[in-house]
Amino acid sequence: MRPVNYLQYAFKILGYKLFRTFGFPKMMPSNCVFSVTNFCNSKCKTCHIWEKYPNQPELAKKEMTTEQWLKTFKTMGPSVFCVFTGGEPFLRNDAHELLMGIQKYKKPKILTICTNATLPERIEEVLDKFLQTKKKDIDLTINISLDHIGEKHDEIRGIKGNWEKLLETVKVVRKLQDKYGYPNLCFHTVVSKWNVDDIPKIYDYVVNELKPDVYIMEPSELRYELGTINTDILPDKEKLSKVFRVYSSNKNVTFLTNVVRQIYIDKYIKGQGLPCYASFNHTQITTNGNVWTCCMMADKEPLGNLNEADFDFKKIWFSKRANKIRKKVKKREFPTCKGCYLAVAANTSIPQNIALTTKYILRELFGKKKSKNSVNN
Ligand code: SF4
Ligand code: SF4
Repeated sequence: MRPVNYLQYAFKILGYKLFRTFGFPKMMPSNCVFSVTNFCNSKCKTCHIWEKYPNQPELAKKEMTTEQWLKTFKTMGPSVFCVFTGGEPFLRNDAHELLMGIQKYKKPKILTICTNATLPERIEEVLDKFLQTKKKDIDLTINISLDHIGEKHDEIRGIKGNWEKLLETVKVVRKLQDKYGYPNLCFHTVVSKWNVDDIPKIYDYVVNELKPDVYIMEPSELRYELGTINTDILPDKEKLSKVFRVYSSNKNVTFLTNVVRQIYIDKYIKGQGLPCYASFNHTQITTNGNVWTCCMMADKEPLGNLNEADFDFKKIWFSKRANKIRKKVKKREFPTCKGCYLAVAANTSIPQNIALTTKYILRELFGKKKSKNSVNN
C-alpha cells in the first residue's frame, strides 16, 4: 500500500475500535474473502473442499451466478483488502468478469488471487486480460499453493503432475510481470505432518530457485470450511514452533505486513488469542451466498444468506442477527473461538491492537538481528 493509504487505514482502525466497542459508527468490512467456487481439481490432504460437490452434488447448483456476485460487490462498496479464492477460482468461466467486478466496486488496494497452479494456460488467459485494464493502485498478488518439492508436492496435493504445472505457472507469472509489472509472485506452504520435517529444504529451494516476491507459511488447520475437523493432519507442535520461528515470515512483503505476521506467529506459538475483529472489519462470502464471520466458523453461524437479501450485502451486514453474532464474537462465546488464533482474520485483527503492533514495529526497527526470515535478500 502507498503511505497515504496506510494513513487512511489508520483512521479506519479507530473506526473499527469504536464499532466493536459501541456498535457505532457502523462500518463495512475492510478485509473481504470471496470463495467463488467449491469446485476443485486437486485432492489435497490438508483440505477436503474437493470432496464437497462429489459428496453432495445438489450443492453445486447453488453457486452464485456472475450477476449475483456483481450485485454483492456493488452493495458492499470499497474494501482495502480482497482475496479471490475457492476451491480453485480459475475453474469459474467468469473469473475475469468477477475480477473486473471486484476492481470496479470493491476498489481494493491489495488484491490476492489464490490458486493451486494446475491450470497455467487458464491463469495466463484470465490474468493477461485483467492486467490490461488493472488500475495502477491495486497491488495484485497471485498466491500459489506449494506444499513440497516435486513428487512429494504432488502426493500432498493429490494430483500427479501438479508440480510441473506449478513450474509452468511460475513461467506464466514471470511473463506477465515482464509485460505488466504484475502480479507479485507469492508461494504459500501449509505446514502439516507431511512436510514439517522438510521445511528447511523446501524453504531453501523456494527462496533460492523459485525466487518469489513473497513466501508465507501457515499451519494446517482443523476447519469446518476445509472439512478437516477430526482429521489427523497437524504437524507435531514442537517441530512446528521450531520451523515457524526460523522460516515462516518473510520481509519482501511490506514492512507492516511482516510485522503483522511476526505477531501472528508469536501468538500462535504461545497459544495466545487476541481480540477478534471478524464480523467487524473482516468477512468471507462463500459461493452459496452465506456471509461468514470467519472461515473458522464458516457455515456454522453465518451472518445471513445473500439469496434471502436479494444479494444486498448491507442488509445482512447491518441485520439484527449480525449484531447478535458480533456480541458473541466479542466475548469469544462460540465454541470455535476457544483456542482460535484468528486464522485469516489475524491480518485485520492484529493491527487493531495498537500497543502490541507498535511494540513489534519498534522491535523490527531496532531489535536484534533477524534469523532466516526473509526472501530475496
Ligand atoms: S487447498 Fe485449494 S487446491 Fe487443495 S483441495 Fe483445498 S481448495 Fe482445492
Ligand atoms: S475468534 Fe476465531 S473463530 Fe472466533 S470469530 Fe474470531 S476468527 Fe472466528
